[in-house]
Formats: sequence, structure tokens, C-alpha cells
Amino acid sequence: MEIEFQRVGKKYESGHDALSQVSFHLRQGEMAFLTGHSGAGKSTLMKLIMMIERQTTGTILVDGVDLRTLGKHAIPYHRRRVGVVFQNHQLLFDRSVFHNVALPLQVSGADDDQTGKRVRAALDKVGLLGKEKLNPMALSGGEQQRIGIARAVVNKPQLLLADEPTGNLDPRLSAEIMNLFQEFNRVGVTVMVASHDLALVARMRHRVLTLNQGRMVNDGGFA
Ligand code: ADP
Ligand code: ADP
Repeated sequence: MEIEFQRVGKKYESGHDALSQVSFHLRQGEMAFLTGHSGAGKSTLMKLIMMIERQTTGTILVDGVDLRTLGKHAIPYHRRRVGVVFQNHQLLFDRSVFHNVALPLQVSGADDDQTGKRVRAALDKVGLLGKEKLNPMALSGGEQQRIGIARAVVNKPQLLLADEPTGNLDPRLSAEIMNLFQEFNRVGVTVMVASHDLALVARMRHRVLTLNQGRMVNDGGFA
């Protein structure tokens, strides 16, 4: 999937300008990091791509399509093409690993056969095949985050967005999670990872977009 922001601005109802004049182009199959201090606008930028929030000014193109032209009926379809990973992974502890990973498939109406295959394939990709029946509570923090990633990729999204996915993990587990994103990128998925861990980002040697108080202050090679 390809994302293009053209002078995008987002003003919340409070009057706060979370993003101003943000322009960048993330090409099909590219991997980039999004950095900046807390409050810089990283989550807001990702919410605009997901259409959880709408921009106030400017244009957002996804595969060349202006998001403003998508009607209500097209939004669930758009969201299914994007996998999202959060810092606190948002797993449900009242059900098994299997049913956590299967959640996005239920929304898209897959049958049991298909669901079983997809869930096992997703768990295999994150190295946790065999843990289906466990409650996520029984897993370590790093494993829980990998379950969150399996859930994000179970629909085979064309774009993977991760918002501070390593926020609660130690450096070794953080590096493992970043390597996992890199593997998805290698098979053609466009990936954007928001992180304020500059040391980790620098080691990954990918494009780095930097926000400061809602403005894109750097779009360069490495951090
Ligand atoms: P982070 O810094 O990790 O992105 P925040 O703690 O800033 O997260 O925000 C958590 C949630 O609260 C987000 O959904 C964000 O959109 C929302 N939020 C943040 N700041 C405000 C605010 N001033 N008014 C209302 N909602 C806010
Ligand atoms: P980051 O993810 O880089 O921490 P955010 O995108 O969460 O930044 O927030 C950018 C700015 O917008 C912050 O000042 C935050 O308080 C504000 N903000 C975020 N969500 C809301 C909201 N729903 N309402 C009002 N202000 C918000």
C-alpha cells in the first residue's frame, strides 16, 4: 500500500493543532520509522491513515485514492487492509490466544476452516505456533506483543502501522519485535512504526520521519 500526505493539518476540537502542513510519501513496500517526542503528533498521523480521525486541511492519498472521497461504507474495507499494533497490545484476557488472533477474521466473516488456517499461519510468522489454547495472561510481555502482531497480520494487510510497539519491552525484546516488522516488510508489506526509542530506530537503518510539535522536521535516511 502507498500513502501520500500533502500539506495535511489536524486541529482537534479543543483548538489544538496536532499536525500542521505535513507532507511525505511512503511508497509501496517501504518501511519507515516515525519519531518525535510525546505529543508530537505520531498517533494522530496514524489515526488519520486509519480514518479514526479526519484531517482538517490537506490531502491524504492511499494508493492514489483521496480518503475524503471514501464513503461510510468504504471505511471498514479500508481498515481491513491495514494492520495495527499498539503499545499495550490490547489483548482480551477472557479468551484464548487463538480467539484473540481470530478477532479481525470474525469481523470480516471468515468460516471456521479459513479462520483456523489463518490464525495458525499468523502465529507461525511470529514464532508462537502451539500456543493457541493458552490464555494470553500465561505469556510473557514479549510474547503478548507478538500475539498482538499476529492479530494485526491475520487479515494479510497491505500496510502495517505500529504505535510504540516496544514501549513496555526491554532492549533485547524490542529488537526482536522490530526484526519481526522487518520480516513482514521483506515480503512486501508497507510498514510504518512510531517509536521514540532513537537508539533502536538508528540501528534498524530505515527511513526516519521526525515530527516536532506537529510539523515534519526531518524526512531522511537514518536517525
Ligand atoms: P500517546 O502519547 O501515547 O500517543 P496520549 O496519552 O497522548 O498517548 O493519548 C492517549 C489517548 O488520549 C489518545 O487516544 C489521544 O488521542 C487522546 N488524547 C491525548 N491528548 C488529548 C487531549 N488533550 N484531549 C483529548 N484526548 C486526548
Ligand atoms: P504522539 O503520538 O506523538 O504522542 P498525539 O498524536 O497523541 O502525539 O498527540 C498530538 C497532540 O494532539 C498532543 O498535544 C495531544 O495532547 C493532542 N491530542 C491528541 N488527541 C487529542 C484529542 N482527541 N483531542 C484533543 N487533543 C488531542
